[in-house]
Amino acid sequence: MDKRIPEHLIEEVRQRADIVEIISEHVVLKRTGKNYQGLCPFHSEKTPSFNVNPDRQMFYCFGCHAGGNVFSFLMNKENLTFVESLKILAERVGVELPEKESSPAQKQKEAKHKRGQQIHEWSAEFFHDVLLNRQEGRIGLDYLIGRGIDLETIKKFRLGYAPDGWDSLLNEMSKKSVTPEELVEFGLIVRKTNENEEKTHFYDRFRRRVIYTILDIRGAPIAFGGRVLDESLPKYLNSPETQFFNKGHNLYGLHIAYRGIREAGCALLLEGYMDVIAVHKAGFANAVGSLGTALTKDQAKLLKRYAPKVIIGYDSDEAGIQAALRAGEILLEQGLQVEVLVLKDAKDPDEFLKTHRIEEFKASLENALTFVEYQYQIMVRESPPRTIPDKAELIRKLAPHILKTGSAVEREGYERFLSLELGLTLEAVQHEIGSLDKKIGGNRGNKENFSNKQDIYVKNRNTIEGNNLDFPLESFVPLGVFRAEQIILSIILENPHLKDLVSESLPEDFWRLQEHKYIFDNYPENNLSYFQGEDSWYEQIQKRLAEIYALNIEISKAETLLRDCIQAVQTTKNKETVEELQAKMIRLENLGDMAGALAVLQEIGERLKRGEK
Ligand SMILES: [Zn+2]
Repeated sequence: MDKRIPEHLIEEVRQRADIVEIISEHVVLKRTGKNYQGLCPFHSEKTPSFNVNPDRQMFYCFGCHAGGNVFSFLMNKENLTFVESLKILAERVGVELPEKESSPAQKQKEAKHKRGQQIHEWSAEFFHDVLLNRQEGRIGLDYLIGRGIDLETIKKFRLGYAPDGWDSLLNEMSKKSVTPEELVEFGLIVRKTNENEEKTHFYDRFRRRVIYTILDIRGAPIAFGGRVLDESLPKYLNSPETQFFNKGHNLYGLHIAYRGIREAGCALLLEGYMDVIAVHKAGFANAVGSLGTALTKDQAKLLKRYAPKVIIGYDSDEAGIQAALRAGEILLEQGLQVEVLVLKDAKDPDEFLKTHRIEEFKASLENALTFVEYQYQIMVRESPPRTIPDKAELIRKLAPHILKTGSAVEREGYERFLSLELGLTLEAVQHEIGSLDKKIGGNRGNKENFSNKQDIYVKNRNTIEGNNLDFPLESFVPLGVFRAEQIILSIILENPHLKDLVSESLPEDFWRLQEHKYIFDNYPENNLSYFQGEDSWYEQIQKRLAEIYALNIEISKAETLLRDCIQAVQTTKNKETVEELQAKMIRLENLGDMAGALAVLQEIGERLKRGEK
């Protein structure tokens, strides 16, 4: 950690970056009373147990117990370090951080990334300028206007034209002191070495093509796609994958679509650049494109940040159908609801919108098939089931997808659909699917259940009102102690003036959980959002804090309760069994605390010698 990032700046970023806004870029949040709720991004679930508390600026999941502040959310979600998440948020909210000292390798990487951004920005400007203002771009502009694209849309999507010739971009960039080698690195220029001449040539990758600029979520150019205007091949050419550009992590049009997706609660996933542009132009703000490749898992995850449902609107040709089937599987695997748009008399949405009214497109969207229905149609078209065994086979093929839907209502809907389509009784269909359900669902129900281990040492439970004490037990801390510590901290966090009183009555080495000790030692004198030590330690502290806040206990007799809790922790301390000590030892080993583990091992040895268990 760079010690030169002052605490007040960290605090300023934390306060300015609204946790609800940041998290809602990853999770669909609904307001419930004072808090916001959604499906947890850290574990898979069907009913929301993920909570965001705007007053405390903390999040907490009652299902998997993930929790923390805005920094640790990004650290967890995006696998970032504290400093990285701080930087991202600082940039967003306009807080300037002092330049930090990073390793030479890191510096080089950062510099290269910045250079990449600059070069792509210049290139996008160049292609755009050629399209709009230069004679060479006229042909591209005519083409786009001919396809019904207006100037506003051209600007919104930063469309461009790569002129004929081998060195247009090369020359333009050399004016800005960009070397051919740099351009090769970002895939904008191709290098060719002639075998016998031993001479290296550089030439533009994109020539005589309409340019679709691929923008990141912030609207910055990161790559290009180019389409020819004649019959030459390849029809489409994209920037290659580089360290700078990863296709699988981006979606075409997301920079303008993400808000629309969130509002609609649904993304419209299309194949072509032109489809995305045409659909947006027709007023559907939730359209994105999968960048000309098969949909990736990361793209599916990206979509899931914005909405729980995706409608696939791929081409209606055979390749499009196969791509839609694959994309649907990937989206389902990520837990998204999937529907498929079927457009009659058109090969893609762009063509449909040219030959039909917008209302018809809207109606088609409303009548989109569920993924199971779509699969059914495709299967039936490929080989119509004529006999009873054919029909049973078809049901068995669809069953895994039907069983993936967590909703009983949805499942019955599919079963009814199949019974009607295939002319079978509902019971027969249900029986067939049910028999597969048992095979698939065999491993259910071995979730750990802590309730039978509950071991409440906290006396006078009536001093706690509205308690919600369903928390995981740290393997080496008895649940009673864990909760007693939480309650003490909860009281201190609310009533800092009681800290002195507690300090006086706490023996040394009172705290079993080091994070709890840290919170106690530092609050209220130090800011708990301030970063000290390791990233994982920081995340752990924030998680504990979120956990304590999530307890949400109303305390009526704080002082009595404090005394009870302190006593509870102390009496339990002497009751640690050998079994508990073993668990503690393993835990310490896993944490890398070998000295601690050895000490515990010695204690176990002593006790066993004394004949204790
Ligand atoms: Zn969770």
